[in-house]
Amino acid sequence: MSKAQETILEIDLSALTHNFNYLKSKLQPQTKFLAVVKAFAYGSDSVAIAKHLEKLDIDYFAVAYVKEGVALRDAGIKTPILVLHPQSINFKTLIERCLEPSIYSAHVLDEFIKITETQAQKNYPIHIKFNTGLNRLGFEENEIDTVVSKLKSTASIKVKSLFSHLAASEDAKELDFTNLQIEKFKTIAKKFEDVSGQKPWLHLCNTSGIINYPEAHFNMVRSGIGLYGFGNSVEEDKNLKPIASLKSVISQIHTIEKGETVGYNRAYTSIGTERTATVPIGHADGINRIYGNGNGFVVINGEKAPIIGNVCMDMIMVNITNIDCVEGDEVIIFNSEYRASNLSESAKTISYEIITAVSQRVKRIFLP
Ligand SMILES: *Cc1c(COP(=O)(O)O)cnc(C)c1O
Repeated sequence: MSKAQETILEIDLSALTHNFNYLKSKLQPQTKFLAVVKAFAYGSDSVAIAKHLEKLDIDYFAVAYVKEGVALRDAGIKTPILVLHPQSINFKTLIERCLEPSIYSAHVLDEFIKITETQAQKNYPIHIKFNTGLNRLGFEENEIDTVVSKLKSTASIKVKSLFSHLAASEDAKELDFTNLQIEKFKTIAKKFEDVSGQKPWLHLCNTSGIINYPEAHFNMVRSGIGLYGFGNSVEEDKNLKPIASLKSVISQIHTIEKGETVGYNRAYTSIGTERTATVPIGHADGINRIYGNGNGFVVINGEKAPIIGNVCMDMIMVNITNIDCVEGDEVIIFNSEYRASNLSESAKTISYEIITAVSQRVKRIFLP
């Protein structure tokens, strides 16, 4: 781990291996593991992450959109890829690149059957999404007959799995609701099997589902945030290692007197003689303006320095009045010790948001 001399996102692939093995240890040996690598693998680098996971014998990948799947195929990724939220305008590309769509509505099913029949496809793999309470995407239980009759009308597609998504698997207060979702999913699966005479794979759990609902792993689990080192709870965070460290450097230090202001719109006013450091990372790099005005902090030489004033596009200013530091010193925004989840909590958001926000402008560096 070298000292940052510019803004970098350092990605520790051995931490990824650790997280994968930890999550895998929660599964029955026959349960398949799907790695969710959407949104640049949660703000890291989807190609590097997918290549590493292929070496660890991952069973499946998922992305949100077709474009993300194409990037993986371009990089030579051969593992099956589920596209969670494809739009029908991209179905031709999806098929060309051997990506597997989530089919979540009658409209999307009709569109997909139309294109696969036009192309004379046989048994093209699809995944049917059911809504069990998240009310985001998915067929309803009462649409099973319609779905099955559409499926029976064509030989061009084949259902590889049925799946659903939990709304609050990380929240112990929602145990009853989650159990209802699990029961609903089982009912749907049974009915689908009865009506269709097929027995596709079933999958329901995201990371917190893997940890909190071992009885609901079915044939496969889908993990995103856990692979990247967050367990959505203090206890589980202890078992997982954040793979990404966002670091920068002090560009310049200013000493300002009482009453002077810092940054755009003069949003911060000094209350005495103070020292500020300017850091080359801004909202265009993923430090949302919500982190400004004391809501977020960075760490310099082991001390917390609050972000003062408004976050600029390319820079932040932080208060270093009580910190022993010089220009060129390293600045930590988050790493395995100062977790992104702490920073996001201080700004009333979640780890998912801060890590996925790290923009493509930030240089990625990989540790083996
Ligand atoms: C993003 C996503 C996941 C991954 O969830 P984590 O909480 O990050 O493990 C799983 N399934 C679906 C449908 C998703 O959209």
